[in-house]
Amino acid sequence: MTVSHNLGFPRIGERRELKKATEAYWKGDLDYAGLEAAGAELRRANWAKQQAAGIDLIPSNDFSFYDQVLGLSCLIGNVPERFGWNGRDMNIDVAFDMARGTQGAIACEMTKWFDTNYHYIVPEFTQNTSFNLVGSKIFDEFAEAKAQGIVTKPVMVGPATYLTLGKVTDGSNLDKFDLADSLIEVYVQIAEKLAADGAEWLQIDEPIFSLDLNDAQRAVIEKAYARLAQVDGIKIMVANYFGELADNMELFTSLPVEALHIDAVRGIKEAEVVAARLDDEKYLSVGIIDGRNIWKTDLERALATIETIKGEIGAGRLIVGPSCSLLHSPVTLRSETKLDDEFKNWLAFAEEKLDEIVFLANAADSKLDKTMLADNKQAMADRADSARIHDAAVKRRAAAVADKDRQRGSPYAERAKKQHAKMNLPAYPTTTIGSFPQTQEVRKARAAHKKGRMSDAEYDAFLEAKIAEAVKMQEDMGFDMLVHGEFERNDMVEYFGEQLAGYAFTKFGWVQSYGSRYVKPPIIFGDVSRPEPMTVKWSKYAQSLTDKPMKGMLTGPVTMVQWAFVRDDQPRSETVKQVALAIRDEVVDLEAAGLAAIQIDEAAFREGLPLRRADWDAYLKWAVESFRIASCGVADDTQIHTHMCYSEFNDIIEAIADMDADCISIETSRSQMELLDAFVAFQYPNEIGPGVYDIHSPRVPEKQEMIDLLKKATKVLPAERVWVNPDCGLKTRGWAEVEPALRHMVDAARELRDRA
Ligand code: GLN
Ligand code: ZN
Repeated sequence: MTVSHNLGFPRIGERRELKKATEAYWKGDLDYAGLEAAGAELRRANWAKQQAAGIDLIPSNDFSFYDQVLGLSCLIGNVPERFGWNGRDMNIDVAFDMARGTQGAIACEMTKWFDTNYHYIVPEFTQNTSFNLVGSKIFDEFAEAKAQGIVTKPVMVGPATYLTLGKVTDGSNLDKFDLADSLIEVYVQIAEKLAADGAEWLQIDEPIFSLDLNDAQRAVIEKAYARLAQVDGIKIMVANYFGELADNMELFTSLPVEALHIDAVRGIKEAEVVAARLDDEKYLSVGIIDGRNIWKTDLERALATIETIKGEIGAGRLIVGPSCSLLHSPVTLRSETKLDDEFKNWLAFAEEKLDEIVFLANAADSKLDKTMLADNKQAMADRADSARIHDAAVKRRAAAVADKDRQRGSPYAERAKKQHAKMNLPAYPTTTIGSFPQTQEVRKARAAHKKGRMSDAEYDAFLEAKIAEAVKMQEDMGFDMLVHGEFERNDMVEYFGEQLAGYAFTKFGWVQSYGSRYVKPPIIFGDVSRPEPMTVKWSKYAQSLTDKPMKGMLTGPVTMVQWAFVRDDQPRSETVKQVALAIRDEVVDLEAAGLAAIQIDEAAFREGLPLRRADWDAYLKWAVESFRIASCGVADDTQIHTHMCYSEFNDIIEAIADMDADCISIETSRSQMELLDAFVAFQYPNEIGPGVYDIHSPRVPEKQEMIDLLKKATKVLPAERVWVNPDCGLKTRGWAEVEPALRHMVDAARELRDRA
C-alpha cells in the first residue's frame, strides 16, 4: 500500500482565525481559555480536513500560535535569561514574550526561514544553555488528535537544523554544535514518550540538507540519528525540503532511520537517484506536490515519476506527499470569489493539494481516478495555451533585449557630472526613501475609495492634497531631493502588480509571514507588461509643486517577483526580465515627465539568493541584468537610485556595484556604520546614502548622533559621494516622530556642509 502523507497544514485558518485570536489575546480581549479554544478548533478542523481528503499520515505539532522553531525552544526550555522564566513551567506567554519582547526584555531576533517569506524566532545559545524537556505541546496535541480518532505523526524541527539556525548571544567562544549531545538526549526523551503514547511515526525536519554543510553539522547529524535509532517503538522520518541534496546525498541516504523525505519538486533531478540508492528497509516520502506555489500539479507527469520510483522501491515503501509543509500555501480555493473559474481551475491551494497527494498515492496502488486525471489534463492544456498567459509582443521584446539595453550611455563618473550640473545639489544632499506615514486618515480614504464610498475624483483630490502637504513640509525642512510620499500605495508590490498585465490577486490567499503577520502574495500567471503608466501622474504632480528635484519611486523587478507566487512554466529569470521591461517603460515615462531622479527599490535582492553558493553566480547575473534593463533606458543626466533594506553586502558587493545605480541607499544606522565596510573595501565607485535614522524604532535621533554617524561614514567614503537619508521608508511611523527626526537629519547635513 502506498502511503499518502502531509508534512504540515497551514495553521492560520480559512479566515485568519489564528490572527484574530492571538491579537485579541494580546489586547486582553480574549482570555487564555478562549485562545486555547481557538487553537483547538483550528487543529480539529485541519485534522478533519486531512482525514476527509484521505491522507494516511496526518501531521500534528505543525500547529503553533506563533512559530514552530519558537515552539521547539519552549518545548526544550531554551528561554533566554532576560525573560526571567522560572525554568519549570512552560506556557504560551513565555513564547509570546520571546517573540514580542516585554517591558524589560527585548524580543528575540526573527529571520527568514531558508528562502521562504516565513520568519522564525532565532534560538539563542550561551555558555549557560541547557536543554530540558519542560513543555508538553507535542504530546498534548498528539493526544488531542487521538481523542479525535486520528493517530497523527508528530513533527518537529531536527537537532542539526535547530543548532544551525540559532546563534550564540553571550559573546563567548561557545561552539553551538558542542550543545548537540545534551540536545539529542532531549530528542530521545521526546521520541520515547511519543512511542509510549502510541505514536507510530515521528517526522524530524532537517532542511539544512538543502544547504552547503560543514563538518560540524555533519557530525551532529550522524550523532543525532545514530542515537535516535536506538529508541524502540517509533519510526523516524527525516525530512529534507527546499532543495536538492546534492553532495549531502550520501549522508542523507545512509541515515539509520525508517523513512526519508525528499523535495521532489526542486530536487526532481535526483529523486530517482535517491530511490535507487535506498536500502531495502527504508520508506521514501516523495515530495512531488509543490508546497510553495499555487499551481495545480501536472498529475500525469508526477504519476510517471511516482511509477518509476515505485518500480525502484516497491509500493510497500512508497510515501507520497508535498515537497514541504503546506504552511507556505494559502489555505483553500473554495472561498476565492475574486478569481474567475477558468483561472481557478489552474490553481491548487493547501486543501486542493491534499487531493492531489491522495490521487497519486491511490494511482500508485492501481486505483486511478480517471475523472480527476482527465480534468487535470484538460486544466494543464487550457493553461498552457491560454491567450491570457501568452503575449507574443512581450516574448518578442524580451528575446530582443541586447547589451545596449543594459548599458547606460556613459560610465558613472561622466553621468555624475551631468547630473550634478543639472540638479545642482549641495554637498551631503538630503532625501528620504520614499514613503511617509500611512496614517489612519490615508488608510481610511483608500478603504473608502475601494469600497466605492469615495469617488475617483474625491480620492485623487485627497491624494493630491497629501502630496502637496508632503512637498511643502520637505521644502520647509530644507530637503534637497524630494519624494511624493507614496500615499496612493497599499504596498510596494501590490500597487504595481494591480496595474501590470500578467498579475492576479486573491481575496483570501493569505500565507503566514511571522506571528500574526500574514501576506497575500500576488500571482504572476502570464507574460507581464505595463498597459499604462502607473506612477507618472503622481510624480509629475509632485514635481509641479516644487523647483527642487522630485524622485520618482518604483519597485524593482527582483522584488516584484520575489514577493509573489511565480508562474512555473518558464524560468524565474524570464519572468523577472519581463517585469524589468515593464518597469523600464515606467522609468522612461517618468524621465519624459520631467523627473530628474528615479529610485528603483530592490528590497528583496539579497533574499533571492539561492540556498547554495554554487547557484549564486547564475542568480546574481540575471538579477543584476534585470536591474540594468529596468534602469538603463534613461539619459546620462537622469539619476538612478536604488534602495536595499539591509546592509549585509560583503558577499554580493561586486554584483551591487555592477547594478551601476548612480546612488544606493542602505540600512546602516543600527550597525553604527560598520556595515559600510563592504563598500569601503570594494571601493564602491558610485554614490551611497548610508541610513542615519533607524526607522524601525519610534525613537527620535538627535542631530548630533546623526552627525557622528555621517562623520564615521565620511572617514571611509569620499564625502562628495555621500547622501543623507533614513534607513528605509517611513510608512510605518507616525508624524509625531518623523517630523522632528527628519528636521534633525536635515540640520545634521547642514552642519556638516557648513563645517566643510
Ligand atoms: N520606497 C519604499 C518606501 O519607502 C521602500 C520600502 C522598502 O524598501 N521596504 O516605503
Ligand atoms: Zn527599505
